[in-house]
Amino acid sequence: MKYLRISVSSGLRTLAGPAIDWAWRQLLTAAGYGWREVSITDPCDIAYTTKTELPSKARIVILASPQYWQAPSAQRLAGLAVNDPYSALRYSGESFTPTLCTECDGRFQLERDIIFDLFWFLTGQEEKHWPQDVYGFYTLPKPWLAERVLEQAPASAIIEKFGALLKQAGYDEPLPRWPQGRRAAAAITHDVDYPEVVRWLEPLRIVQRQGLSGVGAAWQVLTGRRDHWAFPRWMELEANYGIRSAFYFVARQGSLLEYARGTPDPFYDVTAPRFRELFRTLIDGGWEVGMHASYLAYTSREQFAAEKQRLEKAASTAMMGNRHHYWHMNPANPDETLQMHADIGLLYDTSLTHDRYLGWRRGSTLPFYPFATQGAATCSGREIGVVQLPVAWMDAQLSRRTDLSQPQREAMVIALIDHVAAQRGLFVANVHDYVFDEVLFPGWLATLRAVLERITALGDFWVATPATIAAHWRQRYQRVLACSYGLEEGR
Ligand SMILES: [Zn+2]
Repeated sequence: MKYLRISVSSGLRTLAGPAIDWAWRQLLTAAGYGWREVSITDPCDIAYTTKTELPSKARIVILASPQYWQAPSAQRLAGLAVNDPYSALRYSGESFTPTLCTECDGRFQLERDIIFDLFWFLTGQEEKHWPQDVYGFYTLPKPWLAERVLEQAPASAIIEKFGALLKQAGYDEPLPRWPQGRRAAAAITHDVDYPEVVRWLEPLRIVQRQGLSGVGAAWQVLTGRRDHWAFPRWMELEANYGIRSAFYFVARQGSLLEYARGTPDPFYDVTAPRFRELFRTLIDGGWEVGMHASYLAYTSREQFAAEKQRLEKAASTAMMGNRHHYWHMNPANPDETLQMHADIGLLYDTSLTHDRYLGWRRGSTLPFYPFATQGAATCSGREIGVVQLPVAWMDAQLSRRTDLSQPQREAMVIALIDHVAAQRGLFVANVHDYVFDEVLFPGWLATLRAVLERITALGDFWVATPATIAAHWRQRYQRVLACSYGLEEGR
């Protein structure tokens, strides 16, 4: 394990110690380096400091912007350069200066506070200002949409550029990011929302969606000759590509009445024999059975834990991972829900995603351990010990858009895969279980096929279940931490 000697100025630590330490841990572990924290007066590889506290013996100096750390959520994104978000990230009100590294007196000096930038993206500071609809879904501001910020994954771009800077400064090859010498990773996931149709209701929904052309299929559903039980077909498709996915099941059984009253939980019962048998088949074949927390699970830790137990009992296996139905974490305080994941003993969660927008909500194509901010003091807080696996694409984000042709949809998702490859990140797809039907959902499955073809063609992706990927990330993270010193909580 390679490690770097790093020093953080005491002024910065007083200002935002826990947040700064956390951001550094995410950066260095992702980059694959361990660390030894040293005093600012000692020789070091990296100093994170201000102009007034410049060390005399540092190979790389990253200049901090204390004014950002004083009010993180007050910084609003004004722009981002396409293809190089690292060098041209601008907050509004800031006089923008180029931030390329310059070599002076034998050292590299970075005049851009990339540690703050990383913190700002990964903790979703600007989200606090955005309008939310009844489901808690955000509407993004214009600069974010116009410059396709989410699709660029700026936080990962920062990590990659930082790694390149270390190489430029002569540091050795770091710890590999993915197993088997693979460049990037991918996981396919399925939210199981409607595996069983309501035979008198679904035909109406089909006709509503497809008009007269849907009458034939609606009749087939009404008469029981067409349904949503697509699990065997999913397994066959994925086995043909040599991959295994995760299926997320809702343990709480909803009803039409509840649905009409605003709690849109699915109607199936995970304890029914049909589902118990399905769980066995999936697990025996190497698929992952995960948890799809109900719409309001976040409102009660006891309910959330009870859902987990109910599913664990029905599937006779421990639940490693979760995704919230409707991505529905506490809309006013997602950090609180992230903390609940740790409280109920999950290995990973994969819910930090925008419902309507393609790309990475927190700017990262890499797994990370989230940071829970506490109250008004944004920079005091703590790391949450549950891996977050960021989703790149959900089927409905593109399939419901009538302004796009099918080739355009496929091209947009393939661009995300190529971006992940370039950033050596993780590509997570979410395709609902019930859309495996070209008649009922034309084009939905085709986009996933295009995804699988691209990943296969690239040939250097590690495709695994989310639980396997999260376990790898945790093991790698802890390995780096175990041979590092400093940048710890509670200093
Ligand atoms: Zn769902």
